[in-house]
Amino acid sequence: MTTLVTLASPEDLTRVQRELQRRGLWTQPVFNPEGAPEGLSISQHSNHSVRDDLLAIEGVRSVLMPNSSHRLLDGLAHQPYLLPCIGRPDLPMGGGTPPILAAGPCAAESPEQVHASAALVQSAGGVMLRGGAFKPRTSPYAFSGHGKAALGWLRDAASDHGLALVSEVLGQEHVDAVANAVDILQIGSRNMQNFALLRTVGSARKAVMLKRGAAATLDEWRQSAEHLLVGGAPVVIFCERGIRGSDPETRNTLDLAGLALLKHVDGYLVFSDPSHGAGRRELISHLAKASLAAGADGLLLETHPHAETALSDGPQALDGDALRAIGRHMGLNVQNDVATEPTPHPGALA
Ligand code: PEP
Ligand code: MN
Repeated sequence: MTTLVTLASPEDLTRVQRELQRRGLWTQPVFNPEGAPEGLSISQHSNHSVRDDLLAIEGVRSVLMPNSSHRLLDGLAHQPYLLPCIGRPDLPMGGGTPPILAAGPCAAESPEQVHASAALVQSAGGVMLRGGAFKPRTSPYAFSGHGKAALGWLRDAASDHGLALVSEVLGQEHVDAVANAVDILQIGSRNMQNFALLRTVGSARKAVMLKRGAAATLDEWRQSAEHLLVGGAPVVIFCERGIRGSDPETRNTLDLAGLALLKHVDGYLVFSDPSHGAGRRELISHLAKASLAAGADGLLLETHPHAETALSDGPQALDGDALRAIGRHMGLNVQNDVATEPTPHPGALA
């Protein structure tokens, strides 16, 4: 979908085109059937443009903006967001604020494991804990989370360590319970187009982190965000977590071009989840840095105090040292005096 700028007269073509190009806009002249220039189309891949700014250019007669299929989302473009938080001061995001580190285990496995994970996150300068209470698993026989009990462990650990909390909601019947515990509701990749769930999650009127479906186009992703906003969500944070590629050696293909487009062209809040994007812990730090270079407003990373015993996604879980190295790269307030030996296994505590 392109924006069309019409000219006051054909002689205005060069001046208007130069001005649009100066603003970083990609243009293409449009001619009438007689061959006279009558306007310029602005590519959808250009920078974001505001209708009134275009109208103010000398030589511009009118501006026809495309009928957007996600007008609520458009209204959030290039806007910073102050995330209301339960257990810590509210958290600014986007709009030039430094990127955020959110991390935690794939699944909340026990109160001890969640608390140890939150301590790792805090030691790395992270400001948000992640962790699944309700886990979508490909195999029906795999560990699928401790449900509502785990929400309580996550909430306590987040508040004890001064962290915000994000956790996935899998079904409409759990929206209230998850919304009461978290600061951000996560919609997982597998549910990106579960439109009934999106509407109900929106009605909780809390920030939503929307993971990208494994085969979703960017526009399908935007439209899912619009479902959340129509439902009542105040903001949607996109989270790129990799799309289905052609090679299983990396679990998914982290789409940094898509991330950069949503961030820099559309102007939305975008996080990157290189943990699910790569599936291998030795790749995570490289992809985390690449994501930040591409413009990510935050990182969502998996970490585990004992990855070798993790009930899900152990191979992609970072240990404390690796997480703190990323925190240092981000210029965060990293605790340098943390012992390098692993936290005692929860089973050995009692
Ligand atoms: C997760 O964050 O643990 C998760 C299940 O991610 P995704 O929905 O991206 O697979
Ligand atoms: Mn996971």
